[in-house]
Amino acid sequence: MDEQGFVGERVRIARELAKLSQTALSRKVGISGPAISQIEADAVRPRRETVRALGTALEVPERFFTLPFVDTHDGFFRSLRKTAVAARRHARAVAHIAHDIALSTAGTDYEMAPSSVPFHSLSLEVSRADVEMTAARVRAEWGMPPGPIADVVGLLEHHGVVVIRLPLSAAAVDAFSLPFSDHPVVVLGADKNDRGRSRFDAAHELGHLVMHGEQVWGIKEVEVQAHAFAAAFLMPAEEIRGELPSYADWALLFALKERWQVSLAALLRRSRDLGVMSPQAYLSAVKTASARGWRRTEPVPLGAPERPRVVPRILAQPDGNRLRELLPGSVLDEILESID
Ligand SMILES: [Zn+2]
Repeated sequence: MDEQGFVGERVRIARELAKLSQTALSRKVGISGPAISQIEADAVRPRRETVRALGTALEVPERFFTLPFVDTHDGFFRSLRKTAVAARRHARAVAHIAHDIALSTAGTDYEMAPSSVPFHSLSLEVSRADVEMTAARVRAEWGMPPGPIADVVGLLEHHGVVVIRLPLSAAAVDAFSLPFSDHPVVVLGADKNDRGRSRFDAAHELGHLVMHGEQVWGIKEVEVQAHAFAAAFLMPAEEIRGELPSYADWALLFALKERWQVSLAALLRRSRDLGVMSPQAYLSAVKTASARGWRRTEPVPLGAPERPRVVPRILAQPDGNRLRELLPGSVLDEILESID
């Protein structure tokens, strides 16, 4: 990370990390609200003592304000409760720090591999079959063996994606991603302790990165495509079709859940979507699962969610303290605590 002059956007990121409004920050720093707004927009260059006051108020090293800033799509589906806005901004700002962590490895002997996530832009009108083909294409491009994926998070990390986990329930999302071209960031919910769902979320975010990138976001069709991608990526049609039941054969579904490491809900939907299970058989299975309380907690727990390994490894480097001179230590701790 080459440092530059003062970067106004960095004030916004630090402010969102601290969950402060521009007005609240202006009071802490002793300048006007509009002045904060102008500083963030790079319309005004703050004076030396203002920079110092901003660093103190926001609890970031002053050098943080000199790091380059790359903006990206905000990564969120837009159906939004007002209360979730600050939590989303905070989570997104933490994701920016995770991106900084990846960039900080440039030129070190633990340098993170650049992203090899392909971009296959799809229009919103494409059929489900096109999405299935796109998922199969990514599996082929990445040279993946057929069958269940052993570790989705590890796979993403291997392809240059930065993966972290954060509590996201206050932000009212399961997961989100930021499509940086050098190192995309995927943030998984740390408050849902469910391995199968977490793997599905990771594959869903990969679907956004592959099919949508910086282009279209925030509408329902895009979510439907990412969901279809995740199902096809985790459970390729040609490989799983012959294994799925045509009715709710729970013993078989439990075994498939363990083999494919996906939820029963995802297996039932896949059975229906591939035409193995009739819509009526699907509905009756979902009703049974619901009556047994399985929509909240499924039987056959798969264990702890997959754990990101790359970011903790970077932060554990002997020169990891170098990062604390650039990035807010409290956020690095927050990232590490949520992963463990
Ligand atoms: Zn999505």
